[in-house]
Amino acid sequence: MCGVFGIFGHPEAANMAYLGLHALQHRGQEAAGIVTSDGEKLFAHRAMGLVQAGFSPRDLAALPGDRAIGHVRYSTAGGSHIKNAQPFAVDYARGSIALAHNGNLTNYEQVRERLEARGSIFQSASDTEVIVHLIAASTHMSVEDRISDALSQVEGAYSILFLTEREMVAARDPYGFRPLCLGILAHKGGVAHVVASEPTAFDLIGAEYVRDLDPGEMIIASDEGIRSVFPFPAKPSRPCIFEYVYFARPDSELAGASVYEVRKSLGRRLAEEQPVPVSAADLDTVVIPVPDSGVPAAVGFARASGHPFEMGLIRSHYVGRTFIEPQQSIRHFGVRLKLAPNRAVIEGKRVIIVDDSIVRGTTSRKIVKMIRDAGAREVHVRISSPPTRWPCYYGIDTPTRSELIAATSTIEQTREFLAADSLGYLSLEGLVAAVSQTNGVRPSTASARLPVLQDPAASHCHACFSGDYPVALSTRKTPSRPPRLVTAH
Ligand code: 5GP
Ligand code: SF4
Ligand code: MG
Repeated sequence: MCGVFGIFGHPEAANMAYLGLHALQHRGQEAAGIVTSDGEKLFAHRAMGLVQAGFSPRDLAALPGDRAIGHVRYSTAGGSHIKNAQPFAVDYARGSIALAHNGNLTNYEQVRERLEARGSIFQSASDTEVIVHLIAASTHMSVEDRISDALSQVEGAYSILFLTEREMVAARDPYGFRPLCLGILAHKGGVAHVVASEPTAFDLIGAEYVRDLDPGEMIIASDEGIRSVFPFPAKPSRPCIFEYVYFARPDSELAGASVYEVRKSLGRRLAEEQPVPVSAADLDTVVIPVPDSGVPAAVGFARASGHPFEMGLIRSHYVGRTFIEPQQSIRHFGVRLKLAPNRAVIEGKRVIIVDDSIVRGTTSRKIVKMIRDAGAREVHVRISSPPTRWPCYYGIDTPTRSELIAATSTIEQTREFLAADSLGYLSLEGLVAAVSQTNGVRPSTASARLPVLQDPAASHCHACFSGDYPVALSTRKTPSRPPRLVTAH
């Protein structure tokens, strides 16, 4: 997963992009980059690691201009290299263009094969690079047409920003897998347009949220102002439901729904669907979130179940998400670095641990042990989403099926692996209902164009839980080369 940020028409474009990326840091910690334009030339700086570490005041001062796009990159196994850091910036026959992509192209292999057969030479292992080649190869005259020509040849997920010397273009794929929203920022000299993966980036810079981009929408910002076009055939929109479960920041709103409120409602439903059996010792039961991702769901669970909410795991704020480290050994160590049991609220208690999801199960197993070692009498695990059984093809770096514990084990086997007294997941119906019911407050400009969906289950992508993939993954036609899905999302 990644985060993107763009701003057009602000005298401090690079500084604003830096702050915007800060607010999107949860979407990717492996690398960060900003490309600016002064109207004539592009300027780029990219660095590995966190935004704060990668940009000194001097680096920012070397990024002039009133327009910028930025990217934070999430790590993918094997792809941890500066050459995969975005935004990509290239010079081609018609000028310069930079792009910052969140998502994953499902027909990347095929498009690359076609381009290579025509003589294109690729420099990275990133699916995003095919878009660069398609733009360069396009025979259309305007940047807008070249971009829509390129994007109409790729499939899958893209919330993507482009910067040329003169224009900034933002596009969201017709399914709307990944979020992208539009805001405005007033300043002394006028009004800047801003685009970001999540509105939390606007809050930090004092920009006003205007609306989400619609699936299939493209926005073009230039000195003449901004325009919105819909160059792609409309598809039923399928935004990622996992953004609500885990990925987005809880203070963000996606499609008009507060991520925090959705998570609380997931916790409430979880308590209704998967109550911990009542026992004589009920007074001793506590609900403990796995911070940070499990906190809002635990609030909802505690309220619905009537058991007190306690911070039984204390999180160190000096370590990032433990999932991030590509090496298994570091990840294991990371759990203890990141979370410490709070014995005072655990000892002698019946503990209900609430978390958002289980992927491999390794972190959860360590947490159960940690809680037991701190003196819990019983440990019940409750998960505010269904079992993760399928990999994501649209930009979340879930492991292969063989590594997903729910794909290879029954719920009872998973409970045994975790060494928990009980284990309960939210149902897919419960997840979809919670998201749809908290959803849809914001007006959408394109809603009239899209087919009315009767079935709430078809309103989002939930393939990692259901296996119902809105877009299939297409691999190379030539069988002699093994299929790859290497990403820079
Ligand atoms: P596990 O027990 O499967 O090793 O780890 C579960 C934890 O991983 C949960 O706390 C959940 O929040 C987190 N998690 C789930 N999906 C992702 C993901 O795509 N990226 C990251 N960084 N963490 C994830
Ligand atoms: Fe989101 Fe899961 Fe669909 Fe990927 S497969 S886009 S994580 S819901
Ligand atoms: Mg977590």
